Amino acid sequence: MTNLMQDYTRFQRQMRDERVLIRSGSVTRSEVDGKLNKSPSVAALLHAEITRLIDGFRGMISSSSLVTSAKLFLNSFNGIPEWQKSNNWMPITASKHCCGCAKEFSFIRKNRHCRVCGALICAECSSEDLLLYVPNESSDKYNVKWSIINDFGCPSSEPTICIYLRVCTECQSALSNLLVHQAECNEKQVQVKVKETDAEKFFKEISAIHNKLASIKAKVQESLPKYQKSIESMGIDSGSPKSSPNIQNNIQALAKLQIDISDELSSFILSLQPLKNIKSQNSTQNKLLECVKMGSIKFYYDNITVFRTMKIRLENAVPPEVLTEIQSEVNKNAINGTYIYVKQLIMEYLILSQLHHFQNELADVILPCEKVSFIELQKCITARNEDFSKHINTIDTFLKYQLELQTSFFTLLDIWYNKYLEYGNATVRFPCTMLLML
Ligand SMILES: [Zn+2]
Ligand SMILES: [Zn+2]
Repeated sequence: MTNLMQDYTRFQRQMRDERVLIRSGSVTRSEVDGKLNKSPSVAALLHAEITRLIDGFRGMISSSSLVTSAKLFLNSFNGIPEWQKSNNWMPITASKHCCGCAKEFSFIRKNRHCRVCGALICAECSSEDLLLYVPNESSDKYNVKWSIINDFGCPSSEPTICIYLRVCTECQSALSNLLVHQAECNEKQVQVKVKETDAEKFFKEISAIHNKLASIKAKVQESLPKYQKSIESMGIDSGSPKSSPNIQNNIQALAKLQIDISDELSSFILSLQPLKNIKSQNSTQNKLLECVKMGSIKFYYDNITVFRTMKIRLENAVPPEVLTEIQSEVNKNAINGTYIYVKQLIMEYLILSQLHHFQNELADVILPCEKVSFIELQKCITARNEDFSKHINTIDTFLKYQLELQTSFFTLLDIWYNKYLEYGNATVRFPCTMLLML
């Protein structure tokens, strides 16, 4: 027997002993918990393996949840990733029989690996019940948690960022015990903690909104003077020829600032909404709440007035053809953003439909949107005498870069091409969409 096998059997035996104790009812819950505590072997082994999985999964997380899903999705087609392999990973050749039921592996009874103990097992003796996920409500996207499906503390709905891993029944049950054990330890800590008072809750909520508003305020206060400066230099330059590079640069900068300021002011108003849900319990809190409300509304009106006045000044300072050009730049940015957004939605749809076996209805909604935004973008770019194919190329490069698909996109195309052949009808248009996209 190899070292690996010996290690594995030892680990497996420890798990089994633990289970026999619980099953036979020869020990009580607290005795098992005590044992998990006192005999660090099983708990420590489990901990080490779970930590390895969590670290590996964390390595797959990108700044955007779309890229994370794309990575996980593509990763699943390149065999089992290294980070999922346990320290006692059994080579395929190590055993012809399932470590759970001892039945021989065959074409029907395929060999699989438990991601925790690394044992070779069949589907009957395992399930994809180990869930690694980032809680949807978590503000830290690297905050990876683990759970057993339908077991204690498992999230009630599927988190956006998650992965299901295969575990053998032995490991599953040992992990369940660990979950209960950990929860009981946490509960003790919670009891020690003083319950958050209503006043604390009020100040926490109001300061969260206040901070959000303050950060948008700072952006507006940075953008508005820039906008004013752009307008001023536009007025000075307006005598020079229209094609002057200064004017062209300014038009672009002005258009961008105009969009930014509109966006910032709208998001400011949106961020005010949660104030409505905050309940004040006394007159002091009420005064504070009113202060934040009134101050914010005043800020909004003052700044939107300044913004509008600046726009009027711009209209008076520059010739109409330059104004048209600025508007065209604003429109271009808007339709460009829409087109990119629709493309990203399609990608997200592709990934989700593969994971959850969607039908095509949703695609029938997204694809016409793509068509419309494509035509609008084409109109807009051609009207500006710009090279449309070059423009689309730039967008595609950007999307490709964003999805980090360079190495695996052929795999993806392959899968969709096969799907296309499989259905053999015109309603499955994804391969074309994918080609357009990449
Ligand atoms: Zn089996
Ligand atoms: Zn296992």
